[in-house]
Amino acid sequence: MKRNNVLFLGTAGGRITTFRLVRRSGGFLIDFQGSLVHVDPGPGAFVYLIRDHLIDPRNIDLIVLSHFHLDHSADLNTLIEAATDGGRKRHVSLFAPLSAVEGEDRVLLPYLRKRLVKEEILKEGEEHEYAGIKVKAVMRHTHHGAETYGLMFNDSVVYVSCARFEERMLEVYPKGRELLIINTTFYGKRHAVDHLSAEDAKRLIDSLRPKRAVITHYSMEMHQRPPESVAREISRATGVPTVAAHDGLRVEF
Ligand SMILES: [Zn+2]
Ligand SMILES: [Zn+2]
Repeated sequence: MKRNNVLFLGTAGGRITTFRLVRRSGGFLIDFQGSLVHVDPGPGAFVYLIRDHLIDPRNIDLIVLSHFHLDHSADLNTLIEAATDGGRKRHVSLFAPLSAVEGEDRVLLPYLRKRLVKEEILKEGEEHEYAGIKVKAVMRHTHHGAETYGLMFNDSVVYVSCARFEERMLEVYPKGRELLIINTTFYGKRHAVDHLSAEDAKRLIDSLRPKRAVITHYSMEMHQRPPESVAREISRATGVPTVAAHDGLRVEF
């Protein structure tokens, strides 16, 4: 039987690694037995999918945004166009925060909305389902004023998107799941910036005890460290096998 897997199209986070293309961007794609969900399709998602990974975007069922920032949403419209074959196939849905689809910061082009089967709005604690994929907005994060959610997919993959660390995370996020993906942007803690550090990731992993953890979304500081050594450090400290994502990594679960 085909195994579930996550494909990391890109692992950049923050201004320099993303927009000077030190690393790729583009978010990640989860394959649940052939049902495909693309999460946070940042810049390049469309190109990397087709050019390097031989996934036909027309097989994507669902797109989910954690928030509207460009490094998480730049290829949203392109992917809707590609996944629906220019509007000829109508089988794609979108789950996103309200601020990503309406209002002055919206990133969804209005004329593409009618190509979606369903457009559902994320709210903390609520769950949505499409094409056999359940998506729960686990927690609303504090992240530079942008409405941002941490997410859980089919009760097994937990995604801690960009955030300032809050103690509440240790209570609200579910424990003991298959895979915990954490946007670990910095190594050292930076109090002025609403992003997670390696120390924060370590606390989350230690407390939530997933079967496996993956760190991603690196700043230059993490990129240079490099992330593989940080993942080893977290694995040793927590006893939870932790992997540093790299561009193009596929993790089975
Ligand atoms: Zn952001
Ligand atoms: Zn980000």
